[in-house]
Amino acid sequence: MLDCRQLILLQELDLKIDEVKKQIEEKKQKFLRMQKDVSNEEALLEKKCSLLKNIKLRKNKAELEADDLNHKLKTNELKMQRAGVSPKDYAAFEKMSATLKKQLDEEETKILTDMEKIELLTADIDKNTKIVAGRKQHLEMVRIRTSEEIIGDKKQLELINTERNQASLKVDSNVLTKYEELRNKKKGQVLFGIDTTACPKCGMGIPAGTLGAIKSSNEAEACDNCGIYLYWIGPKE
Ligand SMILES: [Zn+2]
Repeated sequence: MLDCRQLILLQELDLKIDEVKKQIEEKKQKFLRMQKDVSNEEALLEKKCSLLKNIKLRKNKAELEADDLNHKLKTNELKMQRAGVSPKDYAAFEKMSATLKKQLDEEETKILTDMEKIELLTADIDKNTKIVAGRKQHLEMVRIRTSEEIIGDKKQLELINTERNQASLKVDSNVLTKYEELRNKKKGQVLFGIDTTACPKCGMGIPAGTLGAIKSSNEAEACDNCGIYLYWIGPKE
């Protein structure tokens, strides 16, 4: 049996401490998730920027290629217009012209396609740059607010801890050791006031002997199944 009267307050304070610690952790995690989302968006934006750079380079290359083809085409046409060109040479120049025109056409199609891509991507990047900047600003506000809240939570935690330490002085040291061992093992609530015949933690039915013992005293008894402590708050026999 465990004298649980002083433990009830102690556990109440311990559960409050658990709750505040949980809140601090949740706030930290929430901020970290937001931070991760923003860095993912930033990384995506960077990828889009480097894609844009590559498309621009590709377009520049195609433009140079087109200039070169244009130049070749003009030279070829000048050769065709020269006096005294044999019909055989003329036919060869004509064939060359057709080939060059086809190549030029292909390069120009590439340039146009890339120009469209550049236009779309630039608009997308502009829009996303603004969005990311807004999110970063918001994140900074959340960071400040979260750290202020956590400072408040930690102050509250200190107060409860002080109260808890004072409460623990009133508990018999053997009882305190047992309680703390159980809390280390089970976490959370380990002492339950009950008015029914089942353990609230594990659901097992409580044997008549145990029930009789807790009903006739102010002490707590361990649940045979899960080991948490039970005390009676129902009508006494
Ligand atoms: Zn149990």
